[in-house]
Amino acid sequence: MENCIFCKIIAGEIPSNKVYEDDDMLVFRDINPQAKVHCLCVPKSHFATLAEMDEKQAEQVKRCLVKIPGIAKALGLENGYRLIVNQGRDAGQTVFHLHIHILGGENMGEKLL
Ligand code: AMP
Repeated sequence: MENCIFCKIIAGEIPSNKVYEDDDMLVFRDINPQAKVHCLCVPKSHFATLAEMDEKQAEQVKRCLVKIPGIAKALGLENGYRLIVNQGRDAGQTVFHLHIHILGGENMGEKLL
């Protein structure tokens, strides 16, 4: 997708601090970390939000979710981690290519915000 920063990262046109990659997803460290460990799991298929996701893309997201516990373990997040999927402007979504934030490496408390 033209002008999508995450598509450009997936294509290798923009560098990233890669943590994991396979046919379905790229996981890399967030450039502006909000926790000691902050990575983004980005499905390789381009779509902006869950509302635009088709069945094939849903299968890809499912495979991302299945892989995340192992990736989190490899990142040292044995004590837990938080997943965030911002949907739209009110949620603060800034990159309109669906992605799953993986946050951890510290006690983030019980409050979500
Ligand atoms: P969201 O606000 O949910 O759309 O999240 C977008 C995230 O992408 C933010 O946490 C940004 O810090 C992160 N981000 C933007 N550009 C880059 C980049 N080039 N490399 C790594 N993370 C990025």
